Amino acid sequence: MLRFEHVSKRYPNGTMAVDDLDFEVAEGELVTLVGPSGCGKTTTMKLVNRLEEPTAGRILLAGEDVAEVDPVRLRRRIGYVIQQVGLFPHRTVLDNTATVPVLLGRGRRAARARAAELLELVGLDPAVYGGRYPDQLSGGQRQRVGVARALAADPPVLLMDEPFGAVDPVVRERLQNEFLRLQQEVRKTVLFVTHDIEEAVRLGDRIAVFGQGRIEQYDSPAAVLGAP
Ligand code: ADP
Ligand code: ADP
Repeated sequence: MLRFEHVSKRYPNGTMAVDDLDFEVAEGELVTLVGPSGCGKTTTMKLVNRLEEPTAGRILLAGEDVAEVDPVRLRRRIGYVIQQVGLFPHRTVLDNTATVPVLLGRGRRAARARAAELLELVGLDPAVYGGRYPDQLSGGQRQRVGVARALAADPPVLLMDEPFGAVDPVVRERLQNEFLRLQQEVRKTVLFVTHDIEEAVRLGDRIAVFGQGRIEQYDSPAAVLGAP
């Protein structure tokens, strides 16, 4: 579904953020990208949805070079959830979740009905939380809304960049469990960035272990844990 072919990215200041990434992610597979800060994980994600362009190589999404896909169209096919999800502060939780489908031309009523289903799926009762504003939610709840919103366009691919990184450990574990359950239902192709090896092992079907701009190991959690 997603294939990196000898992809490198050098920023204009000369930093070689990623160097010769060459790997693929199967449809419905959840791959965690793990490694210390500054090793190129976020850059890898940004190359997929064209927030950055590679300086060498190419990335194929379902066989199509992303460089040839219009960025707006591309981002309909790729959901993106970041550590501090930015919600529209003056829109309710339900409207935040329904925004993208409405923009895509779905009827408002249908979009809101789907948004309510998605909120339910991420563990937020729409009857309780749908009418709240983002500042009336906890951090963990805001992240859930971010996940629901990313799923609202029904993209085949999800990019998640430390989505549970800013919440406390207990909440984080709950979000991980819920996300695993959700993933069993929706079966998206997921790239999931974390600097926490436990999280990477827990969530990943496969793990890409990063070190300074390169993938040092790309294997199952068991194989990564068993490595010397
Ligand atoms: P990670 O997500 O693993 O923390 P990043 O992909 O954010 O790593 O960064 C990889 C490297 O690229 C780091 O050395 C970082 O300082 C550098 N970098 C990231 N973004 C930029 C940028 N816009 N311009 C220049 N260098 C950058
Ligand atoms: P979570 O475990 O989901 O992160 P918290 O433990 O942070 O939740 O919050 C506990 C409860 O307090 C939640 O039900 C949340 O709705 C409520 N809450 C947190 N912050 C606010 C706020 N600013 N306004 C109203 N309710 C809040």
